[in-house]
Amino acid sequence: MFATLSDRLAATFKDLRGKGRLSEADIDATAREIRIALLEADVALPVVKQFVGAVKERARSEEVSQALNPAQQVVKIVDEELVAILGGETRRLRFAKQGPTVIMLAGLQGAGKTTLAAKLALWLKEQGKTPLLVACDLQRPNAVKQLQVNGERVGVPVFAPEPGNGVGDPVGVARASVEEAKRRLHDVVIVDTAGRLGVDAELMQQAADIRDAVQPDEVLFVVDAMIGQDAVTTAQAFLDGVGYDGVVLTKLDGDARGGAALSIASVTGKPVMFASNGEKMTDFDLFHPDRMASRILD
Ligand code: GDP
Repeated sequence: MFATLSDRLAATFKDLRGKGRLSEADIDATAREIRIALLEADVALPVVKQFVGAVKERARSEEVSQALNPAQQVVKIVDEELVAILGGETRRLRFAKQGPTVIMLAGLQGAGKTTLAAKLALWLKEQGKTPLLVACDLQRPNAVKQLQVNGERVGVPVFAPEPGNGVGDPVGVARASVEEAKRRLHDVVIVDTAGRLGVDAELMQQAADIRDAVQPDEVLFVVDAMIGQDAVTTAQAFLDGVGYDGVVLTKLDGDARGGAALSIASVTGKPVMFASNGEKMTDFDLFHPDRMASRILD
């Protein structure tokens, strides 16, 4: 992902190489090129405008440091602005001071929630936590089974509905899971919720009801980076309908242009916290805005 964006930006910077000082025309031309590169990569228009405006302003006004030539100075500015739109600092999970930390996952069907739930559980387990996975996706046939299979792969127990345990009632299951976690001394509860193929009111309401029932410490919005421009609209819809604290980008191993996913933090004001980039349970990590920016500019 981001190969096209990377290549285009590299070509833009190449045009600046060897220049002793940047004229107003150089800065305008560079800004135009960066604008095209970002738009072609699917970065959302308001983000592009803000980005290009900031780069132009800084390229004009900042003292060129002794150590950098003008081309390097522009790369540095673009790097810093990329980090800024990606959310700045790496945002880590907040754990509850008392009782189990409840993490709720929300997002469209196919976003990668169920896979991510298990990846996150493994990641937490490797840090000495004792997570409990909770199957509240009672919409998609097989979702419970899939979570159980994934749970087994990572060696983390799954709390799944059984008769009398709230079958067909995801809110009841979610509530019961927190009690179960307290009883069995799990320190983190990861609640997988149902998604639909498109945003719909009933889905939002269900997720909001689960949220109200378990009062999560963190709600994570899970989004497939491959869905292009829709990623930003969906992110906004979930922010309005359910609300969340952070974003998880999935399928970053894909070959889509990815710019829309890069716009989410900037558009919603919510940080990207994790990145998922493959089918293996270990293809998952904290999202580091600075590393992602470096990768794009590499
Ligand atoms: P859910 O409907 O949101 O629970 O989505 P799933 O977890 O079932 O994922 C949908 C599909 O995407 C499955 O085939 C997963 O194997 C696949 N998937 C999930 N995460 C990733 C990822 O990071 N990279 C790739 N390549 N595939 C993924």
